[in-house]
Amino acid sequence: MLSKVVIANRGEIALRILRACRELGIRTVAVHSSADRDLKHVRLADESVCIGPANSAQSYLNIPAVISAAEVTDAVAIHPGYGFLAENADFAEQVEKSGFTFIGPSPDTIRLMGDKVSAIEAMRKAGVPCVPGSEGALDHEDRDRNAQLARDIGYPVIIKAAGGGGGRGMRVVRNEATLHNAISLTKSEAAAAFGNDQVYMEKYLENPRHIEFQVLADGQGNAIHLGERDCSIQRRHQKLIEEAPAPGLSEEIRQKIGERCAQACREIAYRGAGTFEFLYEDDEFYFIEMNTRIQVEHPVTELITGVDLVREQLLIASGEKLAYKQKDIKIRGHAIECRVNAEDPVTFLPSPGKITRYHAPGGPGVRVDTHIYSGYTVPPYYDSLLGKLIVFGDNRHSAMRRMCTALDEIIVDGVKTNVPLHRDLLNDTNFLKGGVNIHYLENKLSL
Ligand code: ADP
Repeated sequence: MLSKVVIANRGEIALRILRACRELGIRTVAVHSSADRDLKHVRLADESVCIGPANSAQSYLNIPAVISAAEVTDAVAIHPGYGFLAENADFAEQVEKSGFTFIGPSPDTIRLMGDKVSAIEAMRKAGVPCVPGSEGALDHEDRDRNAQLARDIGYPVIIKAAGGGGGRGMRVVRNEATLHNAISLTKSEAAAAFGNDQVYMEKYLENPRHIEFQVLADGQGNAIHLGERDCSIQRRHQKLIEEAPAPGLSEEIRQKIGERCAQACREIAYRGAGTFEFLYEDDEFYFIEMNTRIQVEHPVTELITGVDLVREQLLIASGEKLAYKQKDIKIRGHAIECRVNAEDPVTFLPSPGKITRYHAPGGPGVRVDTHIYSGYTVPPYYDSLLGKLIVFGDNRHSAMRRMCTALDEIIVDGVKTNVPLHRDLLNDTNFLKGGVNIHYLENKLSL
């Protein structure tokens, strides 16, 4: 077992990792910016190291500072959480070169999956269903070939940057007249934003749902899937509500797609927790990308499977074989997560400041993953996630009822939050019916 782990993150996920470490008897080191001295996990960690100034998110991206924190504290491993350095292959490489364990897949795997062109190629080979597309990067000079490709795929198509992320670096094209221009523009934007000017083409799906599969693999030939999550409630590609299982998905399809994902993990010798993201339209799945890290929405999977995903990450990084076989994974009940952000529920502008009063909801089947407390000041430098409200019910209906009760109970004073928006959604007939697509929330908001 790992003896001491550096938690290279902040907020709710840092606390989540700290708790998992403690339960396994692993000592913890919190690294933090000077704005984050009062974070709960910094106070609870066995040791803490301040790695940078208050006024930027850069502290958490400072690779030499994170590695030297591991050196001076005699830690043996680094958990990157999500965001920041979690999918940075160079970071993972430097961690390993410095003699520490990176809690995640190998640098090569992160690199393979970080480039969407190579990721899609690998997945196609492994039999994972992908969006019909260019099967490789486009040569923007070859206008005839690109035009033919788009005609074969059928308009609308979407031009995407191989190195894109966070919903940036894509452009929808609806006819041939605008195709060449769109490719050139996306290419130059991609070069500037991601330092990689490769772009590719895919069929643009008009009204898909976002459904993703959770996997765990030990890099020693064992890999399982833990079912799916429906994350279709999004605004500007940011997920707001996630649930598991996906409404209306049959057990047969779940096992079929899930097994493909697990098989793909075996083929690329994947190690750790990971997520295969798909668009789902007209009963078909289309792989769009893989996230090689723990995700914000992992708790809904934990509640319906009973598997502690962060604990599994730590065990895998310790070199243990996966203790679960696919047949051990039984999906039970329904779970929903609402992301509670410090933001104006109407304008969506961030709302940093001091939390004057906080009361958490409770009761059976209610889980709150948060770092906030009464008196905590939300700094303006980082993302606005205050925490996650997660509930479990025997079925979707009871989970929804329970979430309504929890949303009525929660009190966060001093900053604005999106709780009113969540309350609205939990009373929305179409959402309650289940199966809305990724445009639903934005369409509702623009009414
Ligand atoms: P990122 O890494 O930036 O999140 P993704 O490839 O995951 O990029 O795509 C982000 C979002 O863009 C998707 O969740 C979906 O809303 C939209 N999108 C991407 N590809 C397509 C497509 N082929 N058809 C329709 N929408 C798409």
